[in-house]
Amino acid sequence: MSEKITRALLSVSDKSGLTELGRFLEGQGIEILSTGGSAGALRDAGVAVTDVSSHTGFPEIMDGRVKTLHPKIHGGILARRDLESHRKAMDEQAIGAIDLVVVNLYPFEATLSSGADFDTCIENIDIGGPAMVRASAKNHASVTIVTDPQDYQKVMDDITANQGATSGSLRRDLAAKAFGHTAAYDSMIANWLDEERGVDFPAQRTQGGRRAQVLRYGENPHQAAALYIGGSGKDGQPRPGVATATQLQGKELSYNNLNDTDAAFELVAEFDKPAVAIIKHANPCGVAQADDLASAYAQALSCDPVSAFGGIIAVNRTLDGTTAAQVAELFAEVVIAPDLDEDARDVLAAKKNLRVLTTSALPDPAAPGMTLKALSGGFLLQSRDNGCITLEDLKVVTKRAPDPDELADMLFAFRVAKHVKSNAIVYARNGATVGIGAGQMSRVDSSRIAAWKAREAADAAGLAEPATIGSVVASDAFFPFADGLMAAVDAGAKAVIQPGGSMRDDEVIAAADEAGLAMVFTGMRHFRH
Ligand code: 5GP
Repeated sequence: MSEKITRALLSVSDKSGLTELGRFLEGQGIEILSTGGSAGALRDAGVAVTDVSSHTGFPEIMDGRVKTLHPKIHGGILARRDLESHRKAMDEQAIGAIDLVVVNLYPFEATLSSGADFDTCIENIDIGGPAMVRASAKNHASVTIVTDPQDYQKVMDDITANQGATSGSLRRDLAAKAFGHTAAYDSMIANWLDEERGVDFPAQRTQGGRRAQVLRYGENPHQAAALYIGGSGKDGQPRPGVATATQLQGKELSYNNLNDTDAAFELVAEFDKPAVAIIKHANPCGVAQADDLASAYAQALSCDPVSAFGGIIAVNRTLDGTTAAQVAELFAEVVIAPDLDEDARDVLAAKKNLRVLTTSALPDPAAPGMTLKALSGGFLLQSRDNGCITLEDLKVVTKRAPDPDELADMLFAFRVAKHVKSNAIVYARNGATVGIGAGQMSRVDSSRIAAWKAREAADAAGLAEPATIGSVVASDAFFPFADGLMAAVDAGAKAVIQPGGSMRDDEVIAAADEAGLAMVFTGMRHFRH
C-alpha cells in the first residue's frame, strides 16, 4: 500500500485547472508548496499555499532562473522512503518529503511561434521544471509526477480511490509520460539551436513529436500504428497539412488514408491555379489545374476514372458546392481542402462515411524540412524535395522549341511527376494529366503503362483516340536509352520534359529530333521511392 501524500509542489506555466486541483489537495489535508505565479493564482482562489522560498529559506533569484533548484526540494523528491539512510539524511537536513509534483514547463514552443528573438527564447528554456519532473519520475516508486493538466482529474480520482495515496500503476504511467515530456521539450530546443546554426544533420538526432491519435491498425491489419504531430519549422510549428487537419465528418482515418491524403495534399499545393488531385496508394491517378475547381475535378477524374474509385481527393482552394456535388458522385475515401464553403459542407454531409478534412492553409512546397525513412538498425534523414522547376530553369535541347502551351503543360507534368513513385512517366494536355505510369522498375514500362491507361480511358469514354495524342510527357529522371522516349512517341507525345544528364543524352536528343519532338532539360531529378 502506498503512503498517503502529505506534501505537494505545484509549479506550472499552464495554469488551467490549477485552482480546482489546489482546492482538492487542500481538502485532502495536503500541504501545498508553490512558486511565484502559481502560488499567486492559488491564493487568489483562496487556497492556502506555502511559498517554495519560505519552505527552503532561500529566495527566488536571477529573475526566476533559480526557484526550485534547492536540496530541500530535490532531496524531498528524490529521497528513497524505503532506505533508512535516506530517511536519516532527511531528518538531519530537515528535508520534508514531497510526494506529489505538478509541473508543466515554460512554453518554449509558443515562444518560438511568437517569433521571439534569440535571447527571449533562451530565457524561456525551463531548467528547474525539468529537473523536478525528472527527479519525480525517477522516484515514481513514491512520488506522483503530473505534467499535463488533462491528467488532473485522473489523479484526483486516484487519490480519492486510494484514501489519500496514489496507485503504483498510475505513478509509473505518469513517470513514463513525464520523461517523454522532458525528452520532447529538449528535442525542440536542440532542433531549434541546430536550425539557428544551420546544422541539418547533428551528431545526435532528436525527434520531437506528440501522439495525436492511436490508429486502428497500420498499413495492414496485423500492424499497429499511431499518428504523431511534430514541429518541423523554425517557429516550432508543424507545416500545415494532414497531421494537423481538422476532420469535419466521416469514418475514422486509417494509416493508409493519412499516408495517401498527405501525398494528395502535397501535390495540389504545388499549383497556383485551382487544382485537383485524385490519389490511390500514394500515387496520383488524375491531376488537373483549370480556371475553376469544378473543371479541374472533371479533367482529373477523366484521366483514370476506374482507378479513382475509392480514391483520395485533394483541392487547393475552398471547396465549392458545385465541385462538391461532382465529388459526391464518386465513391471516395477522403476529401481534403483548405476549407469548404457552406454549400460544399451541406452536399458532403449527406455522405456520412466520407472523411472530410480541412487545414485552413496549404503546405508550402518550397519550405525547407526533413523527411525520415526507417532502415533496419537506423534511419535515413534527408532534406525534403522542395525543388520547384520554373520556366527559367528549362533548357531546350532539340531543333524544335516548344510553344507556350507545350511549355505550360510540361511544367505542370513535371510537377506532377515529382509526386509519382519512380519510375514516373506523366502525359499531360491542357493542364491535366492524361496518362500516368508509376513505380515500375523500367522507365519504358512506366511509359507504356501510362499510354495503355490513356487508351483504356478513351475506350471507356467512347473517344476515337487516347488523349496522349498531341500531349507532352514528363519523366522524373533522365531516359537512359532512347527506347523510353520512343514509347512516348508511339503514344503520340509531341514534347518531352526530363532532367537530362544521361551518358546517352546525345542519342536521346537525336531520336527526339528524328521524331520532330520538342524536348527540354530541367537539370533537376525528382526520384520518389
Ligand atoms: P510560476 O508561474 O509558478 O512562477 O512558475 C512556474 C514555472 O516555473 C513552471 O513552468 C516551472 O517549470 C518553472 N520552474 C520551477 N522551478 C524553476 C527553476 O528553478 N528555474 C526555472 N528556470 N524555472 C523553474
